[in-house]
Amino acid sequence: MLGVHKEKAWQIPTQFVPASMRNRGNYIASLGNLCRWLSERAEALEVEIFPGFAAAEVLYREHAEVAGVITGDMGLAEDGSKKPSFEPGMEMRAKYTLFAEGARGHLGKQLIAKFQLDAGARAQHYGLGLKELWDCDPQKHQQGLVIHGSGWPLSESGSGGGFFLYHLESNQISVGLIVDLNYQNPHVNPFEEFQRLK
Ligand SMILES: Cc1cc2nc3c(=O)[nH]c(=O)nc-3n(C[C@H](O)[C@H](O)[C@H](O)COP(=O)(O)OP(=O)(O)OC[C@H]3O[C@@H](n4cnc5c(N)ncnc54)[C@H](O)[C@@H]3O)c2cc1C
Repeated sequence: MLGVHKEKAWQIPTQFVPASMRNRGNYIASLGNLCRWLSERAEALEVEIFPGFAAAEVLYREHAEVAGVITGDMGLAEDGSKKPSFEPGMEMRAKYTLFAEGARGHLGKQLIAKFQLDAGARAQHYGLGLKELWDCDPQKHQQGLVIHGSGWPLSESGSGGGFFLYHLESNQISVGLIVDLNYQNPHVNPFEEFQRLK
């Protein structure tokens, strides 16, 4: 981790940096590129991928075991009527079904409630992340540079979160701010805070 030395910014000594933010020797990877690469490998192994089809319902077999999913109907008009392109959802049954809908998937929420998967677990917490991709002047670009920061500007409102800045390949920089969604101050505006940070 590298700090930015400007006016009031200061670098945290490495031994005090949380383990998840120690990035020396790590690679910067784009999740989008990784998923595209992985999908080609999976298809080469004859995995069938259905891009654009959302799982709409969980299928159960006896004893409330998960049996698979039903995909959503395609080709519905705004009023719910069927367009000529209408295709009903498909039942997809499997021995094992893995759900990977992200932090707040609608099927995940149903499964958590049905099987009490959150019993004894701490409450989920959420953040709002804003990110921009910059095309940068090659003179200023340092591929592999990672800057993580916390404190200002969120500290001014007593809010939590932090920013990141990654120098990717092709002279691009990914820059963003994560705002913890537990701020007490109703005037905090994550977008404006990101603007101030930049
Ligand atoms: C701005 C920002 C910056 C971040 N930066 C970093 C970082 O630098 N490093 C890091 O390690 N992590 C970072 N993270 C966190 C990281 O992105 C997440 O932890 C990670 O993506 C979670 O992966 P996931 O597969 O669980 O869910 P997701 O990546 O959210 O993937 C879930 C996928 O499932 C799809 N989906 C949802 N419901 C359905 C359904 N019913 N049927 C079909 N598909 C469905 C969604 O469209 C989505 O594509 C960042 C997050 C944000 C918001």
